Amino acid sequence: MTRPTTIAIVGGGFCGMVSAIRLLQQQKIGGTHITLFERVGHGLGGVAYDIESERLLLNVPAAGMSAFEEEPEDFLNFLRTISPDAVGGTFAPRHVYGNYLRARLQTAIKARRDIQFEIRAAEILDVLPGNAGGWQVRGESFGLAFELDATAVLLTTGPGIPARPRWVTDHMLDSGHYRDAWTQTTAPSLDSTATVATIGTGLTFVDTVITLRAGGFKGHIVALSRHGVLPQIERGPPAIPTPSDIPEAFQPEALPIQSIRQLIGVFRQQLAMMHAAGRDFRMLIAAIRPLIPKLWNNLPLSERLRFLRHARHLWDSHRHRVPESVGKHIEADIAAGTLQLIAGRITGAHAHAGTLELAVRPRGQTTTIPLRVTQVINCTGAPAGAPLGNPLDALKDRRDIQPDHLGLGVLTDQAGQLLNDRGQPHVGLCYVGPLLRAQDWELTAVPELRRRLPSVVSAICSAIEAHARMA
Ligand SMILES: Cc1cc2nc3c(=O)[nH]c(=O)nc-3n(C[C@H](O)[C@H](O)[C@H](O)COP(=O)(O)OP(=O)(O)OC[C@H]3O[C@@H](n4cnc5c(N)ncnc54)[C@H](O)[C@@H]3O)c2cc1C
Repeated sequence: MTRPTTIAIVGGGFCGMVSAIRLLQQQKIGGTHITLFERVGHGLGGVAYDIESERLLLNVPAAGMSAFEEEPEDFLNFLRTISPDAVGGTFAPRHVYGNYLRARLQTAIKARRDIQFEIRAAEILDVLPGNAGGWQVRGESFGLAFELDATAVLLTTGPGIPARPRWVTDHMLDSGHYRDAWTQTTAPSLDSTATVATIGTGLTFVDTVITLRAGGFKGHIVALSRHGVLPQIERGPPAIPTPSDIPEAFQPEALPIQSIRQLIGVFRQQLAMMHAAGRDFRMLIAAIRPLIPKLWNNLPLSERLRFLRHARHLWDSHRHRVPESVGKHIEADIAAGTLQLIAGRITGAHAHAGTLELAVRPRGQTTTIPLRVTQVINCTGAPAGAPLGNPLDALKDRRDIQPDHLGLGVLTDQAGQLLNDRGQPHVGLCYVGPLLRAQDWELTAVPELRRRLPSVVSAICSAIEAHARMA
């Protein structure tokens, strides 16, 4: 008896769900089993969309959020079934987006009676070459270890794990003095006299403030980051560029920009021209977004490092903006004096009489100032050098995948197949998601991620077809 062909998808966030939908639409993989693994206790949607809050909004307008590039209105149409007044510029609640992805997946599953589709709650710990070709997936579910033979494996495990600062002790974690905004989302109850410090002032920080205030927290929030820069606020109608908005210096036929200094110079010059034409920076950013992988790849490694050290905070704050209604909450909190922004970093901490005493070194100073807080919330996300998470760390530790030199993520071929330590693709073992920033810089938001999914789905289908030919 021949064994069924199995595809394992690890991770039920945006990339896992939309890849599953696209696979289910492939006629050529009829008869296969598809197993989508998501962690025990997690729903489908990932950290961004497996949420319930009405107040956490998408930071991309509805017109840009279709899961399918070839059907640009798909999310807007779904949204209009719930909110008939929604327009392309509407910033919908993120939980609605989670409902959209789950609804589209259900429809795709129902349409394929010839594919056995299963969603399984498990942590996948490792992926090894299988005995009869293909791959062996090893995981754990409710305390029980298991193995699954899969012809092809698609890892969509997200952006890696937020790094724990050196000064955080186990006691600080156990007592709730320190938590990370992504993995521990439930806040221990904080009384109104409490002070919370956040590390990071980007979009995760904004989410954290909104969530704390929505939960009734009235105390002080001190937001710390190296540069103390907040995300820009999305004001006015969405910037929708036309091809003629792409500045000449960024056009594919222009001489490649090979240094950060040159890049910033061109950017500033273009910005001045945009302003003179009565437009704002958003149009320039929107126009060059599709060119970012190319710009990044033209930069030598030393210049990419320079970008990470000196320019990334500026890029992030202008590129990853918040809707106006959200930005107003943050501005009001700052105006009321209940939210304070500090450019600097925490160099040490010790627990003291039920609180934490932090040593904070303001930017540009050599001495530290003390700051007493009840809790520190890490809102930095996964920085360079942070763990990649299961099962990628196991593959990396065994040198089964090639690390990138900046510690940003993983390296794959164009189709998304992970590269081995000799730079060759692992047939049928793919990754797609934000860790591709190692090679394309920015693969974080839906408009960029959705573009990558058709090719990774093709690579999985090719592995299945090759396996069928050999059987
Ligand atoms: C808070 C937040 C808000 C965002 N808002 C927007 C927005 O408004 N618009 C936009 O375009 N983009 C937004 N993004 C960016 C974006 O859409 C995400 O980065 C995107 O969700 C990435 O999808 P993913 O599937 O690669 O990873 P994730 O969404 O992180 O999903 C990975 C999934 O894999 C699971 N997993 C990981 N490891 C394992 C394992 N070993 N075994 C089993 N399961 C595992 C995780 O539990 C998780 O569910 C936001 C991101 C965040 C974090």
